[in-house]
Amino acid sequence: MSSQEKPNYLWSLVTMKCPRCRRGPMFLQPNPWKLRQTLKMPQTCPECGQPFELEIGFWYGTGYVSYGLSLAFSVATFIAWWVLVGLSTQDYRFFYWMGVNAVFLVLLQPWIMRLSRVVYLYFFVPYDPNYKINKIKQFDYETGSYYRKPEDDPSKD
Ligand SMILES: [Zn+2]
Repeated sequence: MSSQEKPNYLWSLVTMKCPRCRRGPMFLQPNPWKLRQTLKMPQTCPECGQPFELEIGFWYGTGYVSYGLSLAFSVATFIAWWVLVGLSTQDYRFFYWMGVNAVFLVLLQPWIMRLSRVVYLYFFVPYDPNYKINKIKQFDYETGSYYRKPEDDPSKD
């Protein structure tokens, strides 16, 4: 891949790359099922320097995201079950689906927790094609916009 090419949004999201450069990995351990290291992240992106935890407690909001992802996943397995296995009020197939879905949700939880953080950060940090030249911008929660960090101002040297 050449450095001019813009990495695909969804692909970068699923492979959990930094939202700003879409190249630096957001997690230190590639395998989310190494549970002790599942949520270990570098402080800043190794490729572009984007901070990942934008403020203390930033990741609390990911609870809603992981809830939404789990719900979407359950809807998907429900439809798949309906098509492949079928559902009936005459037998226990609905409860089998609930059991199978619950097992899947538990197994996928480390991956869902990671993906929630990625989705959440993608919501706040836009892609910057000139990430090598541009300075890191800081998100301001008061105004909901980005500004340059004061210490990055070249005139203040
Ligand atoms: Zn980056």
